[in-house]
Formats: sequence, structure tokens, C-alpha cells
Amino acid sequence: MNVLVINCGSSSLKFQLINAKSEEVLAKGICERIGIDGRLTYQPEGGEKEKSEKAMPTHTEAIQFVIEALTNPETGVVNSLDEIGAVGHRMVHGGEKFASSVVITDEVKKAVEECNDLAPLHNPANLIGVAACENLMPNTPMVAVFDTAFHQTMPPKAYMYGLPYEYYEKYKVRRYGFHGTSHSFVSKRAAELLGKAYDETKTIVCHLGNGASISAVKDGKCVDTSMGLTPLEGLVMGTRSGDIDPAIMEYIAKKEDLDIAGVMNVLNKKSGLEGISGLSSDFRDLTAGAKEGNKRAIAAIEVFCYRVAKYVGSYAAAMNGVDAIAFTAGIGENVGLVREKVCSYLGYLGITLDAEANAKSGDDCVISAADSKVKVAVIPTNEELAICRETVALV
Ligand code: AMP
Repeated sequence: MNVLVINCGSSSLKFQLINAKSEEVLAKGICERIGIDGRLTYQPEGGEKEKSEKAMPTHTEAIQFVIEALTNPETGVVNSLDEIGAVGHRMVHGGEKFASSVVITDEVKKAVEECNDLAPLHNPANLIGVAACENLMPNTPMVAVFDTAFHQTMPPKAYMYGLPYEYYEKYKVRRYGFHGTSHSFVSKRAAELLGKAYDETKTIVCHLGNGASISAVKDGKCVDTSMGLTPLEGLVMGTRSGDIDPAIMEYIAKKEDLDIAGVMNVLNKKSGLEGISGLSSDFRDLTAGAKEGNKRAIAAIEVFCYRVAKYVGSYAAAMNGVDAIAFTAGIGENVGLVREKVCSYLGYLGITLDAEANAKSGDDCVISAADSKVKVAVIPTNEELAICRETVALV
């Protein structure tokens, strides 16, 4: 069976068509500028990347172009829609309603809509993607895979904030966590790499990309994670501040004459690596800047790594030990310097890195020294494949 994996944003739609049996990506691409003008980028396996301007007033036209590209007699990869057995949709926020992936029904869509307040930018866009696919493929089963679902196993002591309890009861204010598909995929793979049973392994997954989060996975279940009600909490990210003293918000609002939306904009879009460095949110620019002696770029890298190490330490405490630490996503997979700096704080856990392995790390590799008490690994994340697997399991 071929599974179409869809990740729908407010003005973009990423897709991959995956052969579920061989797990091979048959084609992938992205529709951008939906509702503005429209651009499709499409790449069949082993073929050239094609870019074309297409009018996409809504997501329905975008999906239509995706299907036309996939079934195109020359560059397509399937003969007809009949060869797409199911669609897997990435959904951002499932609130407390979804602790696992589900087949999409009218009830499911209603329940997702009820979580819109918790992710006002993402959930409505995800639902628009579902509706667009339903229009064009009314008989194809669809599955929703939630970013928050994997973290629903957290105990109350990890998800409750020190706030009046009625905010949890009335407004569902609690830690949810995100990147769940990635944390689940990588923690499972880490146990395989260690040759240990998943339900007997303690893993800390460091998903370090432009958005970044850490999770503690004990015996196959997430017990804590760094993102919260929204993705703003936790690590220092590309442009997000991560944890700060909440009183800073009032202080800055007064000094800079900002309202709540203005302060939130600063915390989400102008802070983090970009805010500290004043240079860029992109780690490649920061490492280049640091090499040239740019002090703020150096400071941004130091703050980033220190925050990661503090979370790793707290999660080792939360689980009363750790068997494996796995680095993933753009920075975690590609920046040896970050892994080295983070691990340099963790000698007390008995961690030693194999410098050579860390420098040349590729796919799924162990980078800790043979005598390291905790295994450290680099495991490329693959959220699309994880969504494909979940979809197949349900349909
Ligand atoms: P992601 O959100 O997972 O796509 O990760 C994006 C972040 O990873 C950005 O800060 C990129 O600069 C960084 N990144 C991606 N590839 C590389 C690379 N080859 N070398 C250094 N940083 C990278």
C-alpha cells in the first residue's frame, strides 16, 4: 500500500508518498504560498526537482496539483488515485482527547476543532488539509497523527503547572509537549540500537532543530518533556526564548510599551539564538560567526548547549538514571560541536564521547566511547515515515 503523508500549515502543504511495505519515498514536495499565489515543488524518487507556479487560492487546489503531479504520465509515480491506499495527516494539537493516532471520522474532526484554542495557528490549517483531501479522495481512509499524543503518558506531577487548579479544569492549562512523533520514533530506534527492549530502556531524546525539545522516555512511555502548553517553553530555540522568568514579560512590556501580543511576538519570533546573537536563527550562520570570533554568536551557542545539558541532567534525575541519550533533528544530527559541548557537562553520568565517531556521525550511529556508562547516539528523525507507519497500523 502507498500512503500519502500530509503536513498542512496555514499557507503551505508538505507531502510524501511512501510505499508502506518497502518504506521507500516514491515522491515528495511542498505547496507554498497557498491563498497568495501558489508554488509547487515536486520531486519523484531518483528524479529532478521541479518547481512550478500554480494558482492555489485554497488548500483544495494545492492537493489537486499534488495528485496531478503524482499521477502525471511522465514524472508521476502512480497510475491513478486508486494506488493511494490511505492518507496520514500530521495534526499539531490533540489536547487531552488524543493519546494515540486515530482514523479520521466526523467525531474526530469535531474533537480536533475543540482543541483549536490550544493551537490557533496550526489546528485549523491541519483540518483544512483533511477537508481538501476528503473532497478529492472521499473513499480513501485517513488517519490523524498528533504531535502531542506521545506525551499524554506524562504523570500529573510532570504536566501540572504551579497555577490555580481551576485553570487546568476550566481551560486545560497544562504541559502537553510537541514533536511527539519524532520523540517516539527516535526513542524506539535508540532502544533498537542498544539492543535493549523498548519497555525496559530509559532514553533522553534531544530533538534539536529550529524548534527544539527534549523528552524523557522511560520503559517506552514519555514521562516528561520540555515544551509546554505551547511550543514556547523549554530550550532556547531558533527564534523562541524557551524558559524565562514570567515576570520579564511585564517588565519588557512597560519598558518597550508593548501589549501582550507584542511581547509574545518578541518571545516567539525575535528571541532565542537569533535574539542573543543578533546574527541569525540558523545554526550554520552561528558556527560560521563563532569561528570569526563573533562574541554574541559564541554566547548564543553556549546558552543553547548549557540549556540542553541542564534539561538532560533534570531528566536523568526524573528517571533515576538514563541508558541512552539520542540527538536528532537539524542541529542534533549535524552539529558535532553541540553534541560535544552538551556531553562535556555530563561526565558525572559516566558519559565519554568517541571524538572521531562524533565528528563523522552519519545515520543511526553510536558516538559514545566503548566504556561510556550511557550510550550516546545520533538518530536522524523521520516524522513522515512514523506517520506512514501509524497510518498503516490503523487502516
Ligand atoms: P530543523 O528544524 O530540524 O530543520 O533544523 C534546522 C536547524 O538545523 C537550523 O538551525 C540549521 O542551521 C541546522 N542545520 C541543518 N543542517 C545543518 C548542517 N548540515 N550543519 C549545521 N547545521 C545544520
